[in-house]
Amino acid sequence: MRGEISGDDNGTHKGCPEKNGSHKNGSHKGCRYTSNRALAVFVATGLITLLASCSSYSPGGLRIDRNIHAKSQDSRVELVVLHYTYADRAQSLKILSEGNVSSHYLITDDAVPHVYQLVSENRRAWHAGVSQWYGHNNLNAASIGIEIVNRGPEGSHWAAYTPAQIATVITLLRDIIQRHQIKPYDVVGHSDIAPQRKTDPGPAFPWKQLAQAGIGRWYDQAQARLYESNFKRNGLPDIAWIQKELKRVGYDTPSTGVLDHATKRVIAAFQMHYRPSRYDGVPDAETAAILKALP
Ligand SMILES: [Zn+2]
Repeated sequence: MRGEISGDDNGTHKGCPEKNGSHKNGSHKGCRYTSNRALAVFVATGLITLLASCSSYSPGGLRIDRNIHAKSQDSRVELVVLHYTYADRAQSLKILSEGNVSSHYLITDDAVPHVYQLVSENRRAWHAGVSQWYGHNNLNAASIGIEIVNRGPEGSHWAAYTPAQIATVITLLRDIIQRHQIKPYDVVGHSDIAPQRKTDPGPAFPWKQLAQAGIGRWYDQAQARLYESNFKRNGLPDIAWIQKELKRVGYDTPSTGVLDHATKRVIAAFQMHYRPSRYDGVPDAETAAILKALP
């Protein structure tokens, strides 16, 4: 997988990688300054000068000691957001690399999907927009965005993701989740964090398959079936309960107590993720049961 990723973080560095903080993930073992020009400099100025320039970036000649690393720290990345591009491979790459939106990764729809890294994980990509999750906004600052080439809605059906794309998403997510210690409930779709505006990655995205691969949040299906039969026998909970539960599991939900348009959008986003066979925004017994069973 690593070999398939284009645009390695270190590939564009003009000097020492520390300048851009790329040793955060622990993969940088030393200075990779190995061009002919570097060798000429090496000959001209000697070993000590080169080592000094590589081991410590010195703004304005300041000596900064980076030998001690604080114990109390963690990743700034808390969330992974999945998207479909709504465009073909070429358009997607152009928009995400040259337009006013971007993502950290782009997975193509080639037979063997190509994985581009367009933005370093240490920097913000512009993919989330106005969004909220568990009451937090400004999600570009705390997330990694993955775009998948997929046309989204096509008339009355949704374009399928290829098995190779899903396998690639799973491999990439496993690595990101492990490196940044991302919680299962923080692996989300764009529609989860912006239900009023977005539908991607859409009902064709196989969240259940990801859950079976140990990625993301899922619910206990036996428990959900039990709740469902109880709701069918005793009646559905009211809308205020549905709204409260949607908030509990992270969604930005109105507290109006009525099934208004905005609430239906949130329910539809929830259904696309957890019950994609029907995503009409109607809070039926199965939807309420999954919601109650969701950790
Ligand atoms: Zn999106």
